[in-house]
Amino acid sequence: MESTAVAGEKLTDKQKYDFKRAIEEIRQLHGRGTELISLYIPPDKQIYDVAAYLRNEYSQSSNIKSQSTRKNVQGAIQSILSRLKAYKKPPPNGLVIFVGEVAVGGDQTRMTQFVLEPPEPITTFLYRCDSEFYLDPLLDMLTEKKAYGMIVIDRSEATIGVLRGKRVQVIKNIQSLVPSKHRMGGQSALRFERLIEIAAHEFFTKVAETANEVFLNMKDLQGILIGGPGPTKDYFYESGYLHHELQKKVIDTFDTGYTDEYGLRELMEKAKERLEDLDLMREKRLMQRLLEEIRKSDGGLAAYGEEEVRRDLLIGAVDTLLISEGLRKRRIGLECTNCGYKQVSTMEKPPENLQCPICGSQTSITTNVDLIDEFYELAEKVGTKVELISNDSEEGEMLLKAFGGIAAILRFRTGG
Ligand code: ZN
Repeated sequence: MESTAVAGEKLTDKQKYDFKRAIEEIRQLHGRGTELISLYIPPDKQIYDVAAYLRNEYSQSSNIKSQSTRKNVQGAIQSILSRLKAYKKPPPNGLVIFVGEVAVGGDQTRMTQFVLEPPEPITTFLYRCDSEFYLDPLLDMLTEKKAYGMIVIDRSEATIGVLRGKRVQVIKNIQSLVPSKHRMGGQSALRFERLIEIAAHEFFTKVAETANEVFLNMKDLQGILIGGPGPTKDYFYESGYLHHELQKKVIDTFDTGYTDEYGLRELMEKAKERLEDLDLMREKRLMQRLLEEIRKSDGGLAAYGEEEVRRDLLIGAVDTLLISEGLRKRRIGLECTNCGYKQVSTMEKPPENLQCPICGSQTSITTNVDLIDEFYELAEKVGTKVELISNDSEEGEMLLKAFGGIAAILRFRTGG
């Protein structure tokens, strides 16, 4: 039971970023007609079933009135069919294929093909032919997948669950044996109260033990949310029933009407904003630390701007590298085989004019990488932590606009 609770792979920031960029690129594409095909293949789908489905779509497409659309759709289907021949079965998370004639300005189109192995399993087979590629299932995978423990509790029932992204998983429902307030005849009120308190204490202990068992083993547990109607949830939290390690992770208590699976969903809704804030807070804190250093009269332990940070990174001076997610630049290397001229520089995109500034013959592009990729790689080599900062806060925007999207908190001063 616990193993399913902790299952669910966590993407690294870098993987998430790469995936995001691919989606960004695909999203901008459109067809001139309804002729772009999106295909989602779950891991347990047989390839020959998919092929049969596509062959059927192929014959259906003979009904398409526009000759060019028909030709393009059929061409795309054929291209997918031949692509699928490389697979005996889908990869572990399934396969996503986007194929079609993409408009490239004027009357021109270009046959375009993307084959992605998604970072999470595809759950539903889907074939779609539209003027744009269908990306929703992939976008869902990008939403935050940090794990939060959930407990909804009152004196009669408790439910323990795990929240990952928008998915709530029920781990266990526990019914209490706390007697209701109806006292049996002949019992003294005092004795009855005492019995209730003992039963309640046993119930809370049992809930806490279950929660400890589940949550203490979760490596990526970010925090714990506690919900329920009335004051019981606060009593449960404040009395310290949970293991002290978990107690520290409690984010807050929230009012919910129910203490079953539905209560867990209510808890997710109630806590949503708070969780988004927490993420943003972390980014803000990093940026504030950077700004504090920058403000120091001696320049502090900070560096910013591509060149300065690259230099500090290479000598191992960077503790934490801050990169804006909004950075859209490439590192481009040019080389002239005629005269030996070489140059590496940062630009928006490869230059259109490749003429060698020295001898005038044609240079060739030797390097063409995303600037964020380049910095990630450099950081990895010297063991520096990288934090991708979103543009969702004022500080995040400042990183992009005022510091060129790259800054660093240093281990030691470099006199830069
Ligand atoms: Zn040259």
